[in-house]
Amino acid sequence: MPETSTPDTAEAADTVGGDRHQLYIGGTWVDPHSTAIVEVFSPATGARVGSAPDADATDVDAAVRAARASFDSGVWSSVPPAERADVLDRAAALIEERSAEIISLVSAEMGAPPAAIATLQQLPGTGVLRAYAQAARDYAWVEYRDGLFGTTRITREPVGVVGAITAWNVPLFLICNKFGAALAAGCSIVLKPAPETPLTGNYLAELFAEAGVPDGVISVVPGGADTGKALVEHPGVDKITFTGSTAAGKAIGAACAHSLKRCSLELGGKSAAIVLDDVDIAANGYMITFLGLFNTGQACVAQTRILVPRSRHDEIVEAMVAAARTMTVGLPDDPSAQLGPVISERQRQRIEGYIEAGKAAGATAVLDGGRPDGLDGGYFLTPTIFTGVTNDMAIAQEEIFGPVLSVIAYDDVDEAIAIANDSDYGLAGTVWTADVERGIAISEKIRTGTFGINFYAIDPGSPFGGFKNSGIGRECGPEGLEAFLEHKSTMLPAGYQVSQDS
Ligand code: NAD
Repeated sequence: MPETSTPDTAEAADTVGGDRHQLYIGGTWVDPHSTAIVEVFSPATGARVGSAPDADATDVDAAVRAARASFDSGVWSSVPPAERADVLDRAAALIEERSAEIISLVSAEMGAPPAAIATLQQLPGTGVLRAYAQAARDYAWVEYRDGLFGTTRITREPVGVVGAITAWNVPLFLICNKFGAALAAGCSIVLKPAPETPLTGNYLAELFAEAGVPDGVISVVPGGADTGKALVEHPGVDKITFTGSTAAGKAIGAACAHSLKRCSLELGGKSAAIVLDDVDIAANGYMITFLGLFNTGQACVAQTRILVPRSRHDEIVEAMVAAARTMTVGLPDDPSAQLGPVISERQRQRIEGYIEAGKAAGATAVLDGGRPDGLDGGYFLTPTIFTGVTNDMAIAQEEIFGPVLSVIAYDDVDEAIAIANDSDYGLAGTVWTADVERGIAISEKIRTGTFGINFYAIDPGSPFGGFKNSGIGRECGPEGLEAFLEHKSTMLPAGYQVSQDS
């Protein structure tokens, strides 16, 4: 364990960024073993936001040991689920109380406008905490079954020490989701936040401690893929919960299989919105477009393939282009801004590469986005909408993670369903129709973990996750809680009478 020294309180008091020279391990700030630093710069302005230590394998080991000690001591794992639920509710209330501070920090790190963070990250973030709290209260932690040889007592026990590895695109929501599920189950956690958003991870760890999570139960090891690998490979970790790209998810899944660690993977997507010929486009055109472009397209559930009936193609495209034009791109301090920058110059160039590839493949940019004037300090891109896309093009198959929509025309609904399912991914999808029954019938044919009819959102109390390359396992609701539990069957001796209040 690294030595504890005086916390760097001056910088720690600066909640919108600041330099952290220490790591949050075991409930206190400790000097890191690593001398490397993760620097954070605003993707909106290029301004320096702050820094955190870039934790190395020795730091990860210290964090896992602290988590292990807290787990084995029972300081959290033995707390009754209803009391753990109360702590999660308190954390949700604290997030709401500190909303302005937290949102400025998240905005400084990942660049989105504050209003977008409030609706796309804070609302679902506090929502999942309360949903996990409710799931913990309602869950059947102990059950008795009539077995072949007598009564069997079935208990659900926390899986142990959890390594949580997260992406940068919605850090407030993702970290609440990881903390909420693992804490509701009674686990201890080592969080490895994305290198783009380490300060949000630190902030939330302290907030959860204030809500009542005992020391040692949460530790944070900022850093990049090497820090993540050290966590995945650590023998003291019982389960990895990962949110990020499919490529990293496959590597992590393989490493977990090697050591038989439990593993949940929330990965990428390339979701389709199926617009039916009876759609009220005046009422739905904005939302169809928004669901592909929100968070500047940096959303795993973004509906970036818009499947449109050929009979109404032009009218729908016109509505989409008009809607996209109203989505203002701007700086976080611009109250009219709806879309922020993309996360990095590298990512902006990658997106521009896809736009070029789309044009080269024969698609038409009916809205030809690009770098907007007057926002040169950040990595901004205005939305692009392609028509004439076929589903075999790279822009229809690969996750762009930027503000680029592909309109694909179809002739009949079976063809639309086949196109929607012709994807390596299977995370989300929607159908847009005046006939909800028709929408439900289509939902049953789409191979994705979540789906929406004339609407889409992640419901904090219902299972969320992917089919196919979009992942393994489910988060949210009782299914998300269960992913952090082991089941144990205890055979009771013949004649044993189970008491009423067991
Ligand atoms: P990424 O895979 O590059 O990184 C995600 C996290 O994993 C980071 O913390 C990174 O440091 C770490 N990491 C990378 N390689 C690793 C390895 N080999 N071992 C251990 N850790 C490793 O993804 P990103 O660019 O940060 O995020 C974007 C991706 O995340 C997109 O594909 C998006 O769809 C996906 N995502 C999925 C969900 C979901 O719930 N399904 C939600 C948000 C984002």
